[in-house]
Amino acid sequence: MTRSIRPLVAGNWKMNGLKADLAIATEVARGYDAALKAAVDLAICPPATLLFPASAALIGSRIATGGQDCSVQPSGAFTGEVSAAMLADAGAAFCIVGHSERRTLHGEGNATVRAKAEAARKALLVPIICVGETREEREAGKALAVVRKQLKGSVPEGLDAASLVIAYEPVWAIGTGLTPTADDVAEMHASIRWDLARIVGKAAAAGVRLLYGGSVKPSNAAELMNVANVDGALVGGASLKAEEFLAIARAC
Ligand code: PGA
Repeated sequence: MTRSIRPLVAGNWKMNGLKADLAIATEVARGYDAALKAAVDLAICPPATLLFPASAALIGSRIATGGQDCSVQPSGAFTGEVSAAMLADAGAAFCIVGHSERRTLHGEGNATVRAKAEAARKALLVPIICVGETREEREAGKALAVVRKQLKGSVPEGLDAASLVIAYEPVWAIGTGLTPTADDVAEMHASIRWDLARIVGKAAAAGVRLLYGGSVKPSNAAELMNVANVDGALVGGASLKAEEFLAIARAC
């Protein structure tokens, strides 16, 4: 399929990874051959403790790194927090914000997610803003409306295509092995692009990368990555295995 938007496959390691696991990142770099480099961008989002060594290990590989969250604050007396500038200083180019695990387990609402996206931009990071409905919301026929509201509340205005990534991750698909049908993904991604145009303008919205996330694995990647308006993947579990992560990248 010919794409007008260069896809991005980002690995979200979540709270997994010790120093020894940097080997996963270097294995991904070894497998990121010329053909893959020509076709797809890769990013690895390790836990904050590994961001600096992962970024160092990936220098020259053209694989970016990213944080998994950032503080809304720039610096100061906020024990335990990590600022966007610190992530950038450790080599990150991206920062995931509003992941459903942050939204549910840490009570982050749209306003907080938006403030984090703004903090990321101030540090010149590209925010990967996550949205997605719960199973109950989908079953009640509210998926599109829920995601529309999340986008409206969490995406800052005035961003251009290069400074924003959206990840659609149905909550019920994360880590469960379940995925929506290709038709459901197509409907949602078309709706997201339409809604984004109202927030960042039509021209920017046309170029923003819309990732699908939630149980992406080598066996379903080709089908999901070929859906219209899907410009890559946000990968959790499968990003912890270099061969699986690379296989997903090849499916783009
Ligand atoms: P999963 O996680 O690929 O393990 O379902 C995706 C995510 O949470 O970003």
